[in-house]
Amino acid sequence: MRVRSLNLLQATTRFSQLRPRSTVYQSAKCASRWSSTSTSTSPSTERQWSTPLAKTLAEAITTTGPISVAAYMRQCLTHPEGGYYTRQTSSGQDQFGTKGDFVTSPEISQVFGELVGIWLYAEWLAQGRKEKVQIIEVGPGRGTLIDDVLRTISSFKAFANSIEAIYLIEASPYLQKQQAKVLSGTEVLKKSDIGFSGSCKYIPGCKIEWCEDIRLVPKEDTSTPFILAHEFFDALPIHVFQNIAQSSIPASSTIITPTGPIKPKHGVTTPKNTWHELVVSPTSPYSDPKTRTSSTSSIEEKLDFELTVSKTPTPHSLYLPKMSDRYKKLENTPDAIIEISPESLSYVSDFAVRIGGSNVVRSKTPASSASANNTTSQQDRFSKSQPSGAALILDYGPLDTIPANTLRGIRSHTTVSPFASPGLVDLSADVDFLALADSALNASPGVEVHGPVEQSFFLSTMGIKERADGLLKGAKDEETRRRLETGWKRLVDRGPNGMGKTYKAMTIVPFNEKGPLRRPIGFGGELVG
Ligand code: SAH
Repeated sequence: MRVRSLNLLQATTRFSQLRPRSTVYQSAKCASRWSSTSTSTSPSTERQWSTPLAKTLAEAITTTGPISVAAYMRQCLTHPEGGYYTRQTSSGQDQFGTKGDFVTSPEISQVFGELVGIWLYAEWLAQGRKEKVQIIEVGPGRGTLIDDVLRTISSFKAFANSIEAIYLIEASPYLQKQQAKVLSGTEVLKKSDIGFSGSCKYIPGCKIEWCEDIRLVPKEDTSTPFILAHEFFDALPIHVFQNIAQSSIPASSTIITPTGPIKPKHGVTTPKNTWHELVVSPTSPYSDPKTRTSSTSSIEEKLDFELTVSKTPTPHSLYLPKMSDRYKKLENTPDAIIEISPESLSYVSDFAVRIGGSNVVRSKTPASSASANNTTSQQDRFSKSQPSGAALILDYGPLDTIPANTLRGIRSHTTVSPFASPGLVDLSADVDFLALADSALNASPGVEVHGPVEQSFFLSTMGIKERADGLLKGAKDEETRRRLETGWKRLVDRGPNGMGKTYKAMTIVPFNEKGPLRRPIGFGGELVG
């Protein structure tokens, strides 16, 4: 069956133009306007691919069969040679900012990172001024957020002195270097056991370690990890499933695995509605270019890949849609689409275990056991005598619904097809905050989750207006004043596609077994400690 790819591809949000740190209007990732870039192929005997990565992917698919959206996203974003984040960009130019593809909150206003730094300090105070603090950021991009955070923290001496080490989890060697330039003042890093290390210019004697995976960061009973994830989860791969009524799958079918098709011993049961995985395969070289209409023009483009519905079960379609009651509730909704990111669930479980330990296993309902077992079994059993630390997740996605049709490509501040120019286009999908919360709670009995709340609520209750007013008083010229003013207002804009509404904040903090519920500041709580 052909995909409802048009539906998937066209589900994009509109954006209102807003002012970032620089003077040129740039779009945030989550709220861009559909447009398209031409990737047309010229008719010739040998098929022309839009990028070398497209050719590599197409060849692999010819051997193994169609791949999941997750596998496609992973290759497009972090393939060692042609991945969007991992490829070498031309000197002085990266994915972010005016000349890049999108702009993020820390790039829009320094106030954002400053408030995140103050939030960490407030949480450190509330938890009784712990020693042996680890600051961990996943996906630091240019390093702008952590730079503003560390600069802010350095003025709270006792907190700064409690920091043992800073860990930056970054898949891109080029972005690692860029972060090092910003934070250590040099691109030259020492090789370390887990990756590379350098020093922190804001906190004398404090080391910064770069590595590619959070599992490489040491876990210690007495450590207090403060973890930041800003626009990280939207970049992690998703699997997409569609609930198709009157399945045409024969009773005994084959399952497509990475090593080839296998026949299940006892056949596959086929209920009326079945979750089918949407998979990626090359478009036919003979098909007509698809005509898409943007708000301004009608453009003909030929894409390298397209989505199709897998006729046979895939390893992921057999268990992922069964792991939560939230998906089960949609089993009777024909054509419902759900997006699931197992890698995100694994990451957030790791956060929870670091904060709360995994020493006591929660009793699990059958519905949640697949996710819980899947994620906790990947964690080392890690005992923590006293839960401590926090994770702050800032990203875009719905408050409580399951994302559907949210995969998009972003290039030069416009939304494009996720199948255009693989490796040259950023790919992202909405974050399922409730799934992250469930996964954290299942992974550790020692944590609780607050939020998600809208970014406007988080930043306003953290005092964004007051902080911006303070900076405005010291602004040297009209241009700086205007930039500050438009920047902070953009971050809390609650218009239909404003960043204040689309972006959410969620936190994982230690579960307070004995005392009353303590809401962290920014999530309805007061400053304490
Ligand atoms: N937090 C930054 C950048 C967001 S873009 C900001 O808000 O400005 C996503 C970041 O995550 C990039 O730095 C990218 O290289 C990194 N990234 C993407 N996938 C990753 C993965 N699987 N592992 C580690 N880092 C990853």
